[in-house]
Amino acid sequence: MLRTPIFAANWKLNHGPTDAKAFMQRFLHQTPRLDDRSMLFFPPALSMAAVMDALHERPDVLVGVQHVHSEASGAFTGENSASIARDAGARAVLIGHSERRHVFGESDEATGRKVRLALDTRLIPMLCVGETLSEREAGITESVVERQLTAGLALLTDAEVGQVVLAYEPVWAIGTGRTATPADASAIHGVLRAALRARGGVRAGQVPICYGGSVNRGNAAELLAAPDVDGLLVGGASLDADGWSAIVRTEVRR
Ligand code: PEP
Repeated sequence: MLRTPIFAANWKLNHGPTDAKAFMQRFLHQTPRLDDRSMLFFPPALSMAAVMDALHERPDVLVGVQHVHSEASGAFTGENSASIARDAGARAVLIGHSERRHVFGESDEATGRKVRLALDTRLIPMLCVGETLSEREAGITESVVERQLTAGLALLTDAEVGQVVLAYEPVWAIGTGRTATPADASAIHGVLRAALRARGGVRAGQVPICYGGSVNRGNAAELLAAPDVDGLLVGGASLDADGWSAIVRTEVRR
């Protein structure tokens, strides 16, 4: 189980092994062990080894993959496998990131199979949910995230739900510079928490819910201070070692 708050860096398709090594040296130099939070990196799969080499004396920082295929193995040229990722040292996996859903057509149903596979492989699934701008404008944000949550958890037992980490990432806020207000983020996190409670069997408060979408040094503290925000999933602002170190060292006021 991860300690909250969680600080997760999604590098997307940035930082090859050479950059990743330089980033980690600089980041670790500035970032002491922090026992009151969890730090996670999701580098491109080909840079994972470079990140892990740099982390050999920092078991407090975990590494994950940005994507896995919904089948464990087989004739799926070019895909990432959950079990191979685990063997290579990954401890977590992003599932249902908006770019996977909207650029690569990942379905709700596939996210459910991937969450199941992640737990079977002993990877922590970070299940991302979030509405598009048109869904927000149509006033259906709550039903969209509830649908995505239900599908993502569909193949888990009630007790297993406690092993999942959620990330609310409104699509209109990802990489756009538009951030949800702390109150908006908190409201949707509350909807997700209520849906977990309604599912039963799991202590809903046990499931961390991170916020993602144009988080930066200027807004991290206020987002983390918002009720029900248990961490941050950060893309663009995690690409600079100094800036990301400052964000993970944010003083958390609760
Ligand atoms: C993301 O990729 O998950 C993300 C939140 O990106 P950004 O921080 O750049 O909006």
